[in-house]
Amino acid sequence: MQVTTFGVIGAGQMGSGIAQIAATSGLSVILHDISDEFVARGLSLISDNLLKSVKKGKITENEQAAILKRISTSSDLLNMKTADFVVEAASENEDIKFDIFKKLDEICPPHAILASNTSSIPIGRIASRTGRPDKVIGMHFMNPVPVMKLVEIIRALPTSDETYQITIELSKKMGKTPASAADFPGFIANRILLPMINEAIFCLYQGVGSEESIDTVMKLGMNHPMGPLALADLIGLDTCLAILTTLHQGLGDQKYRPCPLLRQYVEAGWLGRKSGRGFYSY
Ligand code: NAD
Repeated sequence: MQVTTFGVIGAGQMGSGIAQIAATSGLSVILHDISDEFVARGLSLISDNLLKSVKKGKITENEQAAILKRISTSSDLLNMKTADFVVEAASENEDIKFDIFKKLDEICPPHAILASNTSSIPIGRIASRTGRPDKVIGMHFMNPVPVMKLVEIIRALPTSDETYQITIELSKKMGKTPASAADFPGFIANRILLPMINEAIFCLYQGVGSEESIDTVMKLGMNHPMGPLALADLIGLDTCLAILTTLHQGLGDQKYRPCPLLRQYVEAGWLGRKSGRGFYSY
């Protein structure tokens, strides 16, 4: 199957990044969110990013214009009726994703592959909401999408070989290096990353160190490019809490219980960079 029209559901930090790299790779992109305002915000993130690339001499102004021209916007899911491949990057909430996949299954052409960028929700659970579970797969990009090379590919039990191969090829076309993971909560990346972030939050909660000292220890002591608390702010504290909850419930192990401080921050609306306040102020 030839993928030419590529749909993206959710124009937040991940969806806009995915739309940007898809359009850069030559695909015709439809970027969708629940309102025109959210789609416009996503498109302006893409414009700002491309402008930075022009200023750095990575792309020309003509290329920037051509990439933007390949992106059309949508606040009506029916626009996905022409998509060959859709990546869902809506909020990390099971009910939202189940509803989107059920609707996409009704709207998209029968050959279309439906992928989820979920950080943690098992793909098989999402696939079972559709009448095409063999064409459902996990395509987990890293943040920020235009910069990070990895995409984690998650095959659910019903995912077909053809769906898997097309997704691997598409990942490479988009300039990414795919790594495969089995369909367990959190897959590989967040099964390992989130317990570390959670432990850093427990260190803060129990007064073992300040934000700065925890992040400095991990940056200078472990050679991590970012400290875990700054990284949590980048991911979004609501997303971190959702991932830990999925790990905790799905794997049934106490070691994944979210730190009460994380819960308190999310309840206060301190979601990290995207809300201007998290462990740090932005
Ligand atoms: P975000 O909050 O920046 O964006 C989510 C977007 O989804 C919002 O614009 C929201 O309006 C939209 N949305 C919500 N319900 C929708 C619906 N029914 N239909 C269409 N759009 C809808 O979140 P994000 O960080 O971009 O995360 C999106 C997904 O990507 C989540 O599943 C998350 O777990 C995953 N992910 C996040 C990261 C990260 O570092 N933030 C990394 C990898 C994967």
